[in-house]
Amino acid sequence: MSVQVVSAAAAAKVSEVDLKDLSPSEAEPQLGLSTAAVSAMAPPAGGGDPEAPAPAAERPPAPGPGSGPAAALSPAAGKVPQASAMKRSDPHHQHQRHRDGGEALLSPDGTVTEAPRTVKKQIQFADQKQEFNKRPTKIGRRSLSRSISQSSTDSYSSAASYTDSSDDETSPRDKQQKNSKGSSDFCVKNIKQAEFGRREIEIAEQEMPALMALRKRAQGEKPLAGAKIVGCTHITAQTAVLMETLGALGAQCRWAACNIYSTLNEVAAALAESGFPVFAWKGESEDDFWWCIDRCVNVEGWQPNMILDDGGDLTHWIYKKYPNMFKKIKGIVEESVTGVHRLYQLSKAGKLCVPAMNVNDSVTKQKFDNLYCCRESILDGLKRTTDMMFGGKQVVVCGYGEVGKGCCAALKAMGSIVYVTEIDPICALQACMDGFRLVKLNEVIRQVDIVITCTGNKNVVTREHLDRMKNSCIVCNMGHSNTEIDVASLRTPELTWERVRSQVDHVIWPDGKRIVLLAEGRLLNLSCSTVPTFVLSITATTQALALIELYNAPEGRYKQDVYLLPKKMDEYVASLHLPTFDAHLTELTDEQAKYLGLNKNGPFKPNYYRY
Ligand code: NAD
Repeated sequence: MSVQVVSAAAAAKVSEVDLKDLSPSEAEPQLGLSTAAVSAMAPPAGGGDPEAPAPAAERPPAPGPGSGPAAALSPAAGKVPQASAMKRSDPHHQHQRHRDGGEALLSPDGTVTEAPRTVKKQIQFADQKQEFNKRPTKIGRRSLSRSISQSSTDSYSSAASYTDSSDDETSPRDKQQKNSKGSSDFCVKNIKQAEFGRREIEIAEQEMPALMALRKRAQGEKPLAGAKIVGCTHITAQTAVLMETLGALGAQCRWAACNIYSTLNEVAAALAESGFPVFAWKGESEDDFWWCIDRCVNVEGWQPNMILDDGGDLTHWIYKKYPNMFKKIKGIVEESVTGVHRLYQLSKAGKLCVPAMNVNDSVTKQKFDNLYCCRESILDGLKRTTDMMFGGKQVVVCGYGEVGKGCCAALKAMGSIVYVTEIDPICALQACMDGFRLVKLNEVIRQVDIVITCTGNKNVVTREHLDRMKNSCIVCNMGHSNTEIDVASLRTPELTWERVRSQVDHVIWPDGKRIVLLAEGRLLNLSCSTVPTFVLSITATTQALALIELYNAPEGRYKQDVYLLPKKMDEYVASLHLPTFDAHLTELTDEQAKYLGLNKNGPFKPNYYRY
């Protein structure tokens, strides 16, 4: 069966962006719903072999800006039509998502633990820094006045580390290393760990079906042929699967870590061994962090034409140090809330000089991060920290949004008695319809065994609530980084804190009552459990498709602005994950498609649809 993908050669060339030619007034984002890249790569709408491309006749022509069903929406609707995206303009919501939550680092057993408290959370950029002469020392690493983004100290990964990197104190920058092919164009902790890393990558591949499917489809035609991607993301087994997929699709990649703690050294070694110029190791100093990024972009004879960023640090570095590079860059794909926020700021100031894709707010990614990831990880986090049994336990979940729904569903399924608190009558009614008792926190605070916050709000659990809880009540947070529980109010002289395990504190009242506080009120799942690879698969696939789309888009489809993912691309990401479940998608008949006014191959929903 022939495989149809967009070839770079066939795709219209996007002319080089000249900084001086770009005026802010040109930045009029277009909807770009049904895109060439996605429609060419899209599977059939029906069941059967989901990898088979739809017959060309059934595929919608790739409409230009404003054409097709999307034309009913204003162009601006493609920019920030969704509530989730709009939240970003509210400063209160800017750092709500867990990737931007509490500081954390990866421990050897694969769990994510809190980062050293001395590291500043909100970091200023080191705009003028170009000298790379510091060497990491333990003290230096912790006492740095940080100039990297907050997300560069947050961490997540679901892979365990085989080796203790502290065994070898030599900075990777001082080592002479070569891979088995003789290349030394990389800087990792220890190239000899490559074999262990390869195993991690192979395990991750099992849970990343969509990327593996993309690789198969790309055989023959290479939609990223000629793409030179510079990336700055967490360097984990899941990222490695993404990078190797981009390579299989024709791209050349150079990569640095977006986080000084989260790099899996074995994985970085495996990537270096297979020829990827990777510059990253666990426990980089601030100076190392920027040095690694610089080594990715400041290379003789190689200039990036695409950016994949997580946190905005790479984009920032290129803006500050190598602005001329943007003449060759076709687009930026950004994953994090923080990075996307910065892009919107640049756009607002008329300073964004290439199109950017906001993958953070894609529907599929949001659903998986908030609802499904939390549904899985709430139990994991509670179990690892407390060894508790859930059946029959009384739990109150504060907030019945996506995260709250996930937590409630998981606990209900385990036989817990679940109460919900809400401020919004719509979510409250949903909770009632789902069979939960809607209460005020005060009404149940004396009787519950567990309190979980998922509101994105502050001081949802106050000292007064904490005073009234029963002995051994477990208190934890799944929502906003560390504001939901008033932990500061527990730091008073009459209360004793006892650290009983990593991430578990007993706070003891004078009468002997104790509550069990998990992760000091920071995100339970980020601090005490792992992020499932399947969740990361959604993100990575979205990133890959966003890169393909921006790289192949005909001139004029995307201007110098920030775009949400085209709906069709979101649908495609989901469809690529369906074969894992042997799921058979129903195909619209011609008559039905006409009746609904839809193209048989999607998009199937308007942008305002709430899934
Ligand atoms: P959401 O807006 O869908 O849900 C939050 C709910 O809390 C809303 O329904 C709101 O009405 C309710 N609420 C607000 N204040 C309240 C209060 N005082 N008492 C009771 N209910 C209240 O948001 P979401 O997608 O569910 O995300 C919630 C938080 O979780 C956000 O801060 C988000 O960044 C974070 N988050 C965490 C993870 C994780 O892995 N732990 C993943 C995604 C998002």
